[in-house]
Amino acid sequence: MKIFSINQLLRPHLQTLVPYSSARDEYTGKEGIFLDANENPFGSVTEEPFNRYPDPYQHAIKDKLAPIKGVSPSHIFLGNGSDEPIDLLVRAFCEPQQDNMIILPPTYGMYEVSANINNVAIQKVPLTPDFQLEVNAILSAVNEHTKIIWICSPNNPSGNLVDRSAISRIIQSVNCLVVVDEAYTDFAPSETFLPDLEKYPNLVVLQTFSKAWGLAALRLGMAFASEEIVKILNKIKPPYNINGLTQKVLIDALDHEELKNKYVQEILQNRDHLVQKLATLPIVVKIFPSDANFILVRFTDSMAVFNFLINNKMILRDRSKVKWCDNSIRITVGTARENETLVVLLQKFIAETHLTHAL
Ligand SMILES: *Cc1c(COP(=O)(O)O)cnc(C)c1O
Repeated sequence: MKIFSINQLLRPHLQTLVPYSSARDEYTGKEGIFLDANENPFGSVTEEPFNRYPDPYQHAIKDKLAPIKGVSPSHIFLGNGSDEPIDLLVRAFCEPQQDNMIILPPTYGMYEVSANINNVAIQKVPLTPDFQLEVNAILSAVNEHTKIIWICSPNNPSGNLVDRSAISRIIQSVNCLVVVDEAYTDFAPSETFLPDLEKYPNLVVLQTFSKAWGLAALRLGMAFASEEIVKILNKIKPPYNINGLTQKVLIDALDHEELKNKYVQEILQNRDHLVQKLATLPIVVKIFPSDANFILVRFTDSMAVFNFLINNKMILRDRSKVKWCDNSIRITVGTARENETLVVLLQKFIAETHLTHAL
């Protein structure tokens, strides 16, 4: 039995950190005359009032979100996009120039950027060519200074779910944190890792409102973890990291989960249709299986395709320079019409390059 202690992972100087105590920490009631926070007592210059500081812990949102996610509110942390919990996790647990984290290329770029910003070393253990975990290689890379392993499932940019039992094996075998980034979980057929939070004190699950919920501009990411980890993140976050406008919009948005599910169904249908169309094109070498709202596609000459499309105002994500993704482009599934335009443009590209060859 391994013994897990969060305090052994936490950077020593944070164990005694006294966090900023906001005016709204000292009195949490709603009624009263508030002369504690130097706000404007009349209202705002805007029609809607924003003159009061928002709830630093977003209790109303968490109470409403908890039953949707099947976790208790005390296991939820909300951040300014997933970017914020990613950065806070690095800052909380990784001592610069001493600790390291493990990432599994090809993967989401922010883990490494956040490590670089915080001067924390990265160890790269590539996924297999079909984008699954090299469990033994990951476990042998772990050393006494490894604090976080980042697993993205469904993986960006490949789109596939990562084998569940392999992820569980990693979580069970290590004493560091394992972050499972489930940004695309709404599109995936299998269960999230949220129910496993009960079992694993070293597990952190990331999700976001930026994809299926269609709220990317609000910047709202979720981290789910043990109460202890949530407390640590709360201690080091900027006090009012989720602004009042975002909180207000989200409270309403949470009433519309069924619309989110409808979007997901339509995107999945569009994805299957797009895959069928792309498969008929002679310039398409491979379409990687996707459990997300995007597909990774290998072309005969991705640079030529990419440039042709850009010139026609169709913007895709070139991934040809990343591990295992040579000649590959990541394509977000759009509306039926957008996808149709893409296919028509690719047919035009084929016709034009064919002509050039014939000349
Ligand atoms: C899009 C994405 C996110 C979401 O980031 P936000 O900051 O919440 O918008 C997180 N992780 C991965 C892997 C993503 O692709």
